[in-house]
Amino acid sequence: MRVQRALARVGAVSRREADKAVAEGRVQVNGTTAIVGQLVDPARDRITLDGTPVATQVTAHRWIVLHKPAAVMTTRKDPEGRATVFDLVDDAPGLVYVGRLDFMTEGVLLLTTDGTAAHVLTHPSHEVERTYVATVRGDAVTAAREARRGVKLDDGLVVPSEVTAYPLGERRWAFELTITEGRTHEVRRICDALGLEVERLVRTRFGPVRLGELPSGAARALTSAERTVLD
Ligand code: URA
Repeated sequence: MRVQRALARVGAVSRREADKAVAEGRVQVNGTTAIVGQLVDPARDRITLDGTPVATQVTAHRWIVLHKPAAVMTTRKDPEGRATVFDLVDDAPGLVYVGRLDFMTEGVLLLTTDGTAAHVLTHPSHEVERTYVATVRGDAVTAAREARRGVKLDDGLVVPSEVTAYPLGERRWAFELTITEGRTHEVRRICDALGLEVERLVRTRFGPVRLGELPSGAARALTSAERTVLD
């Protein structure tokens, strides 16, 4: 590929700036000043801009979904020595989680080597939908009706986009709701505000990624369709 493209595709400079930098003789390939249109191999050639090496090799990031079990910490290292999500996956170094789950919460937890994307996806402005199913006791039908109008929490109102209650028998309900942010203990606080007692909480979806039949404690790579939606 042309040297300008090799610089621009990794975001070192814009395409226009890359053209200009090469034309001004500020770019070197393997120690020799590059010329406009020069072909390079981004994986092998050593390219510098204003004397500074530019990492022109695009690395393919790893993306996996873990079915987090209960009683596992979403943290790199727990001072109390409890099991962490990183104990459950192969080649954990370099992975970061995308949107933490509480110690006792189960379900979809994305892990990636792309720290920038992890940060962007969990920013509230990104509004990625997360669906949770809580096993609750209490008047779930009234609670669902109230939740659709919005629930006042001490850090502001939350209006779930979808709320449904299904009877499970023995006065238990599956209370399913979708939200687009990840405030601390948000779903547990919503249930508490609605007078529901949470016995179990499972995240069944994060954006395009669904829990499906993935067994508890198991992980799988994201499909390219899931990756495309998240990119
Ligand atoms: N909301 C909670 O209350 N806990 C979680 O782990 C995730 C969302």
